[in-house]
Amino acid sequence: MLMGDDDIPPELTERDQWDGWVMARLDDGWCAALDRNTMLCTIYEHRPMICHDYQVGDSDCIEERRLHANASL
Ligand code: SF4
Repeated sequence: MLMGDDDIPPELTERDQWDGWVMARLDDGWCAALDRNTMLCTIYEHRPMICHDYQVGDSDCIEERRLHANASL
């Protein structure tokens, strides 16, 4: 979910089913701002606030990695 202060290129965003402003996902399910070759954020310096708050290696991160690992099995 994006916030009013987020300055994201419009082509990387979309409205979700509840009309919330969110990062767009491509057909592979990953964020539209993710470089698929490097797996790095292409807008890192301007990434959304929610991404700033998401800490690598915290419990949410570990859970998300677990879900993706299970989904790709
Ligand atoms: S840090 Fe945020 S904006 Fe950047 S690729 Fe990841 S989810 Fe997308």
